[in-house]
Amino acid sequence: HAKSNGLNMFRFFQSDMHHSKLQRLKLETDLQRAIGNQELEVYFQPQIHIESGHLYGVEALLRWHHPNLGMVPPSKFIPLAEECGMICRLDLWVLESACRMYSKWQSQHIDMGKISVNMSAANFYSFKFAESIESTLKKFGVNPKMLTLEITESVLLTDIPGISQELGKLRELGVNLSVDDFGTGYSSLSYLKKLPINEIKLDKNFINDVDSNSEDQALVGSIINIGQILKHTVVAEGVETKEQLQTLKALGCNVAQGYLHARPMPEQALIDWYHQDTAHPLRDPDQINRKV
Ligand code: C2E
Ligand code: MG
Ligand code: MG
Ligand code: MG
Repeated sequence: HAKSNGLNMFRFFQSDMHHSKLQRLKLETDLQRAIGNQELEVYFQPQIHIESGHLYGVEALLRWHHPNLGMVPPSKFIPLAEECGMICRLDLWVLESACRMYSKWQSQHIDMGKISVNMSAANFYSFKFAESIESTLKKFGVNPKMLTLEITESVLLTDIPGISQELGKLRELGVNLSVDDFGTGYSSLSYLKKLPINEIKLDKNFINDVDSNSEDQALVGSIINIGQILKHTVVAEGVETKEQLQTLKALGCNVAQGYLHARPMPEQALIDWYHQDTAHPLRDPDQINRKV
């Protein structure tokens, strides 16, 4: 009896695996089509300068509205895009869309601060990465100082030939370079010092219990201190509660990004939020003044 159960189990898993492989293949072909089909949309999540409560910047986050499946989360399609060699096209598309909107905001005197865009590892293997960023910025008339590229820690630790020089060129242009999901990879102090970065984004994992867990608090405090020594801006991601925000403020963290202030949202919702945020309970209304 047990044996036949086991066999059924095996068959079940086998067909399940087969099914998910097919699903992935289907999703891959769907993704190839998504750009041309206008199924992709850039959402934006505000980043708040903790000390002043001013808007520091916005992070561009890609969304995929699948015609049958509805909203597919980036955690599902970004890894897929990385595997099937589509990620550079996607990242470039996000960069272009973000720059296009940024220049439109500028023309309407809307000051969103910095615009932050995620860049997967694959981009750094392409020739003239820095030059392509520069030409996109020029095309849309965006000041390089207003762009931040978020690069995951693992990329910075990989020995991609010429990565340090490419990053150096970008810094020379004025582009900000941020280490995303800091602390989840193999952070090494020597890399932090060696690479021309100027921002650290603390992963949400460190923020979850920062107000209640003394170990997390000490760890976050130490990372913030290192950031201060290296003169990097420290951004905390996934800030959901006032208690977390207060703790981060006390520890000297510079910028907070999370559901506490705002969720990622479509462009029009961001503009509405921008115009209404004086009413936001978490910002000090006396201090609202766009200049950080
Ligand atoms: P990330 O760059 O670390 O972005 C932060 C993620 O945390 C976003 O997830 C955001 O929605 C989420 N988040 C922000 N605040 C909170 C909060 O208070 N609570 C919780 N639970 N989550 C919060 P999202 O948008 O699902 O994106 C996931 C990841 O996908 C991103 O992580 C990034 O690594 C990747 N990604 C998104 N868009 C792009 C893109 O255009 N290019 C590339 N290469 N990767 C992207
Ligand atoms: Mg990011
Ligand atoms: Mg992050
Ligand atoms: Mg993250």
